[in-house]
Amino acid sequence: MTHAPTLVLRSRRVFTPDGERPADVILAGDRIAAVSAYGSAAGAPVEDLGELALLPGLVDTHVHVNEPGRTAWEGFTSATRAAAAGGVTTLLDMPLNSIPATVTVEALRAKQEVARGRVYVDVGFWGGAIPGNTADLEPLHRAGVYGFKSFLAPSGVDEFPHVSAAELDEALTEQARIGALAIIHAEAPHVLDAAPQRAGRAYADFLASRPDEAETVAVGQLLETAKRTGARVHVLHVSSADVLPLLDAARADGIAVTAETCPHYLTLIAEGVPEGNTAFKCCPPIRSKDNRDRLWDGIRAGSFAAVVSDHSPCTADLKRLDAGDFALAWGGIASLQLGLPTVWTEARARGFALADVVALMSTGPARLAGLARKGAITPGHDADLVAFDPDAVFTVDATALHHRNPVTPYAGRELTGAIRTTWLAGAPVDVHGSPRGRLLDRTETAT
Ligand SMILES: [Zn+2]
Repeated sequence: MTHAPTLVLRSRRVFTPDGERPADVILAGDRIAAVSAYGSAAGAPVEDLGELALLPGLVDTHVHVNEPGRTAWEGFTSATRAAAAGGVTTLLDMPLNSIPATVTVEALRAKQEVARGRVYVDVGFWGGAIPGNTADLEPLHRAGVYGFKSFLAPSGVDEFPHVSAAELDEALTEQARIGALAIIHAEAPHVLDAAPQRAGRAYADFLASRPDEAETVAVGQLLETAKRTGARVHVLHVSSADVLPLLDAARADGIAVTAETCPHYLTLIAEGVPEGNTAFKCCPPIRSKDNRDRLWDGIRAGSFAAVVSDHSPCTADLKRLDAGDFALAWGGIASLQLGLPTVWTEARARGFALADVVALMSTGPARLAGLARKGAITPGHDADLVAFDPDAVFTVDATALHHRNPVTPYAGRELTGAIRTTWLAGAPVDVHGSPRGRLLDRTETAT
């Protein structure tokens, strides 16, 4: 770390851990050196952002990059360009849908190999806990993954099988022993199997095939296993607000559980999904307007540690937009570049402050993953920052996004809030210049 100031970012609206205030943010090399009184900094070039909000770079702990193996769906270069354009300066890559899946140290190395030198933002990796790889968890954790994802229901890809109740118990027992964070896709397969399966263009039929009960039953099983094993668990992409009372009760019971939800669950509603528009298909599904309101009640109550994208794109043909059949289409929503404006648009309309969004999309996910130098504008942290215009209005043009495939349910939507500049490690990100992102390792970034 260099100590001489290299750049000063001046704004009337700097979002610090103590609140929003006018300030000078003094950068020294790749770190934040100091946050000082507005207009006081000297000795380095000053970039005056005026009324633009200066936020800590967003941390998106739920991104499916899909490379190597399914690079046609997305890839490190395209994903990290989209991230930077969306104000995301750190992303954690999910252990699937790449081939290989990140379930051994060798597979982790293969991913790091293709990512190295090609990422525009900082990238870390989750591992996977699947049937039969319990002996790989400790070496993977030592190799720097941030924790382990497991599915309680089929994942959608053959190389990442889901765990049975007994296998979940085994995986959580081992993760409790090594001190790892277990992150779980919680839908119960027997509930899904018993639900009506009707193909076609009607979203209501798809929704009926993934009922709320699939989530509540799976979360119940997870919490019971967490309690028995002592593992620290995180519920991924909560869609059903019916899950919230279970989480509250578990916390009251002393179980170490956190949860996240995603921009699409907070902004889109089943009643608004156009017939046959499979860009809206994801699992668990987008639910009713009433459910969305109750998720926001959960946000207000502090039930969620993070709001993260679950960016999970595929090629346009796998979305089967021609047929518009929800049963045939790949389930996954592409939104990496749009997380902040989508959530801010809805949050503001509901009376939330921008600081609330920063807490959920930057500080919260950094804390969740143990990224000690991310998620706050404070001395010693990485100089990852975003200049954001909270009042700018724009219409989403899917073809203008950096995502590899121009398929997103937000196409044509009017959103409020525009990212003006993203700084990574003290310098602006140029998505057409050379990539400067670093590969993160839990053993180096943890406190
Ligand atoms: Zn996911």
